[in-house]
Parts: sequence; structure tokens; C-alpha cells
Amino acid sequence: MRAHAGARFAIPAGPLPYNAHATIGYIRHGRWEQVKVEDFRVKPGTSISLAEIDPDDTAGLKGKDDARDELKKIRMRISAMQERLWAEHRQSLLVVLQATDTGGKDGTIKHVFKGINPQGCRVWGFKVPSQEEADHDVLWRYHRRAPAKGMITVFNRSQYEEVLVVRVKQLVPKKVWEQRYEMINQFEEILARSGTRIIKLYLHISKDEQKERLRARLDQPDKRWKFSIGDLDDRARWDDYQRAFEDAINRCSTDYAPWYVIPANHKWARDVIVARAVLKTLEDMNPRFPPEEPGLDEVVIPD
Ligand code: AMP
Ligand code: MG
Repeated sequence: MRAHAGARFAIPAGPLPYNAHATIGYIRHGRWEQVKVEDFRVKPGTSISLAEIDPDDTAGLKGKDDARDELKKIRMRISAMQERLWAEHRQSLLVVLQATDTGGKDGTIKHVFKGINPQGCRVWGFKVPSQEEADHDVLWRYHRRAPAKGMITVFNRSQYEEVLVVRVKQLVPKKVWEQRYEMINQFEEILARSGTRIIKLYLHISKDEQKERLRARLDQPDKRWKFSIGDLDDRARWDDYQRAFEDAINRCSTDYAPWYVIPANHKWARDVIVARAVLKTLEDMNPRFPPEEPGLDEVVIPD
């Protein structure tokens, strides 16, 4: 053990400050272009209305080719940052993905996290709770999957299901789910104070786009396995779900765990915007390689 290990593992008190104005950038067409991701962040204390956010927005990207080039560059940088995070072993990143059916959670994970060292990344999906999960407190199954130091963890669905499907389908009384927004904020604050940075991404598609995507699942034999007739029941409750998403986003976007509304009708733009948000967050976290042991210059490897 190194003598000064204690200092390196010290965790700052209080929630980690979120630097909303930090920007990332690229050399593009021979010019340095800054990329802002805070346009899609829901500022704490403000209220968004999903109907006013354009799901067709492409965030300045010119088209698929442009997006593919940028995504490749960002992925390389995410990979490099992940290596530092892993080596530093002091902080962790939790990326929460929520969306309606066909919103693109699976595709986003596949495209954005491709190429990351599998050892440093975990993806957890949450379905209807098992008996064991249901027998515990409502946040138990999420807390036990929260990232360990050095890790990037992606939640495909999350603690927010407890105020989304549970609310819309009235699986518990209103007075029970009403308390959960505050519980979720407290839960996320506990994680943040323990060195976990959290970003929450809502993939925003239109009702028409969902129709197209459900149709495509029926039309393509190798997509049919993804189609569940129950999805139509959820589609019939579209407006209730939109309201539930809005409440979750407006009541739970905090400095320590911000929500982003990601325009997601165009998959290529969605992937880049998500990748930008992940990269920017990692750059804000600024993970560093641990200091080397003293005396390495004098080391001679024995024969
Ligand atoms: P999928 O992610 O499409 O495989 O489906 C998972 C299903 O589990 C969705 O229909 C979710 O609404 C449902 N689900 C996830 N979490 C919960 C929960 N806490 N209570 C009830 N249903 C849930
Ligand atoms: Mg589904």
C-alpha cells in the first residue's frame, strides 16, 4: 500500500458541483467547434413541457455521415476517460436511461458504449420486480446495482419506473408513489455524496414515431421478438405516460443528478447527443491516473 493512499481516496463533502457551462469540442472541417450539451439539460427548479420540446431536433448535426464521424471521435474519448476513471478508483458514473417503448434505450446502449472496456462497464435492466425484489424496500434493487468506484454503470429503466409504470397503471395508491420523488432525490444524493456522478437521460420520441417503430417490429421477422402486445396498452396511455415523465423530470432534476431530454426521433442524432452528455460528464469529473510510486526511475527489472 502507498503511504498516502488515504488522501487519494478522500471524497469531497456534499454533492459534487455540476459545471453547467463546461463545453467540449472537436476539430471539425479544420475548425475548433465547441459543443454545448446543457441545451438539453433540465435546469433544477424549472419546469419543462415535453410537448414543447422537438423530438426531431438534430442538435446542429448535418446528417448521418456527420453524426457517424462525430460518434466515433466521442467514443474514443469516452474510452480514454473510462480508463482514467478505472485507474483512479475514486469516483463512478451512473447513466440512467428512460423512454417509452421503442424509445431507443437498447440501441443507445449498443451504439454509445461500444468499444468501452467491458471490465469497467455494467448494464442493468429492470423489469417487473421479482418476488425477492418486491419483498424489499422500493429502492433496494436499484441501490444494489449502483456503480462501484471506477465503474460506469448504465441503468436500462431505473428507480423512475416506480413513478412511471407504477403510477400510470396504479399499481400502488397515489399517496405511496407521491412520496417517491423525494425518496428518489434522497437516494441519488446519497450516491452523489459517495462519489457517484449521475446523469439521467429521457429519450424523447413522438407518438407518430412510436407508431412507425412498432410497425417496423411487426414487419421485420427478426424484430418480432421485441413486439409485445402489452406495448399497445402502454401506447393507449401515451398522455398519462408523458405527464408522468414530465413530473419525474421536473421534480427530480437536481444539481447532483440532472435530467436531460434527448431528442430521439432521429437515432443517429440521439446517439451523438447522448454520447456528448456522457463525455462532458466524464470530462467534468476529471478522473486522473493515480500518482506513480516513488523510485520507479531507479527500478531495474531482474533477469
Ligand atoms: P422491457 O424493458 O421492454 O423488456 O420491459 C420491461 C417491463 O417491465 C416494462 O413493461 C416495464 O414497465 C416493466 N417494469 C419495470 N419496472 C417495473 C416496476 N417497478 N413495476 C412494474 N413494472 C415494471
Ligand atoms: Mg418493451
